[in-house]
Amino acid sequence: MRKKERAALIVEALKEHYPASCSLVARKDYELLFATRLSAQCTDARVNVVTKELFSRWDSLEAIAGADLSELMEVVKPCGLYRVKAMDIQKCAQALLENHEGKVPDTMEELLKLPGVGRKTANLILGDLFGKPAIVADTHCIRISGRLGLTKSKDPYQVEMDLKKLIAPADQNDTCHRFVHFGRDICTARSPKCTACFLLDICPQGQGK
Ligand code: SF4
Repeated sequence: MRKKERAALIVEALKEHYPASCSLVARKDYELLFATRLSAQCTDARVNVVTKELFSRWDSLEAIAGADLSELMEVVKPCGLYRVKAMDIQKCAQALLENHEGKVPDTMEELLKLPGVGRKTANLILGDLFGKPAIVADTHCIRISGRLGLTKSKDPYQVEMDLKKLIAPADQNDTCHRFVHFGRDICTARSPKCTACFLLDICPQGQGK
């Protein structure tokens, strides 16, 4: 089976099983940006607990930009890497106010100029906030795409480029959200539940190839 055909089957099967929802809770554009920054090497569940406190204590970009940095670090500490994450969030809030009239920009180029924002975060923002085609090459996406034979790479940028060629633009962002659900549910990092998997018939790894 050609890769593109397999990708189309995967996209449709995932649509039948999972919602295209992001598990990070955010009410404002910058909240999604900062929650995504905090999610590096941290679970979404823990990020949601932290952001509830973060965004109620400092409830505007101005408040975050002017917050006492040590207090900000203390609040984001449960997410790990808290010093750099707190600094990034504060610098990012300042940059949004100074350069973007307090709005999150809608281009990859501008997003990548923001402190602490890499391609993964930028793609999530482009897809979720602006409805643009976007591949979020996170740990689930890389692992599952590899097992399903959609990419041979483990490099996030290369995986993003490979999937862009195989998945229709309108399905890209939603498919990545569904990969996350699928990766927690069946195609887990350790001991994937291949015998219970609805993609077993078309999965090279599941077929032992
Ligand atoms: Fe993952 Fe196994 Fe399903 Fe393949 S068959 S997608 S490895 S759970």
